[in-house]
Amino acid sequence: MAAQIRDYGDLLNLLTQQQVPFELAAPLVKYTSFRIGGAADVLVFPRSAEELALIQSWANERPVRTFLLGGGSNILISDSGFPGIVVHPAFSEDLRIDHQTADHISVFVAASAKAPLSGKKLSAMGFAGLEFLTTIPGQFGGSIIQNAGCYGHELKDVITSVEIVAAGKVQKIAAGACAFEYRTSLFKNEPNMWVTGAQLDLGAGSQPEINARIEDYKQRRINSQPRNRRSAGSIFKNPVPSVSEKKSWQLIDEAGLRGHTCGGAEISAEHCNFIVNNGEATAAEVYTLIRLAESRVWENSGIKLEREVVLVGDFGQ
Ligand SMILES: Cc1cc2nc3c(=O)[nH]c(=O)nc-3n(C[C@H](O)[C@H](O)[C@H](O)COP(=O)(O)OP(=O)(O)OC[C@H]3O[C@@H](n4cnc5c(N)ncnc54)[C@H](O)[C@@H]3O)c2cc1C
Repeated sequence: MAAQIRDYGDLLNLLTQQQVPFELAAPLVKYTSFRIGGAADVLVFPRSAEELALIQSWANERPVRTFLLGGGSNILISDSGFPGIVVHPAFSEDLRIDHQTADHISVFVAASAKAPLSGKKLSAMGFAGLEFLTTIPGQFGGSIIQNAGCYGHELKDVITSVEIVAAGKVQKIAAGACAFEYRTSLFKNEPNMWVTGAQLDLGAGSQPEINARIEDYKQRRINSQPRNRRSAGSIFKNPVPSVSEKKSWQLIDEAGLRGHTCGGAEISAEHCNFIVNNGEATAAEVYTLIRLAESRVWENSGIKLEREVVLVGDFGQ
């Protein structure tokens, strides 16, 4: 990797000139669902795709590390934080309705909108297809890049195109070119593509049925996931059926790790594919448990677990 710069003087001048909000030495802990992690050198809050493009253009010309932070619900930030620029979209969260009839809506949802809230808003308007999203935390942008899903539904089912900033320019990519698959997309593997939002197509549904599905998903969560605990959701993806019919939680359970702790971190006794922060856990402790699960499952079943959670910053080996 090229030598890194830690002097952000001209970026700060640019941000000040353009009145883009930012913080220096910004603690990231409160931006994560784990409530774990150190500080970023600079934390920037672009309010539009154009401001995002401005920051990206600046960074593209310099040997500096950047990280696009969404709702922080699928990441583990290192205890030493992030030695670079963290960009946290703060666009308008309003839905932009492009076309609406009694039985169809075409709507643009911005990356910084809260994903569950967007699901709730569109469901309350009588449109079906985003009920599942009401139970998935995070920003809408994070759910796009992750192709978030649950209970047999995925975000890709309703996306028609995605708007991104890449090479310092705002661009639109048709859904068919986004390489959506189980918990991944083109954008997940291209850290220089920053998602600004997506266009969705939804059809009208029966309001009582929409409401019943939302309630059903909510209850299923309550019954299956650790309650009132800080976590980042599933740590590992489930293996594809050709590798194993078992879910990751079963493999971790069979490896004898249910309830295993390291300091303040615990492989959840309620759901073995979650690691929970029991209060004062450090990123290093969570990371130790991630590595332990990987090695024990490998020894026990010969299956290599694939991480869903994204590690941010430096963790060593
Ligand atoms: C209790 C709990 C339950 C969960 N259940 C589910 C579930 O059922 N299904 C599921 O799919 N997930 C689940 N998750 C995981 C998580 O909520 C989703 O993956 C969510 O979509 C992540 O969005 P985020 O905004 O929080 O992303 P972050 O955690 O902020 O970021 C995750 C990754 O996305 C990238 N990213 C974020 N925003 C953008 C953007 N605008 N442009 C480019 N890259 C971006 C980040 O750089 C990072 O690589 C759960 C999490 C928790 C805590």
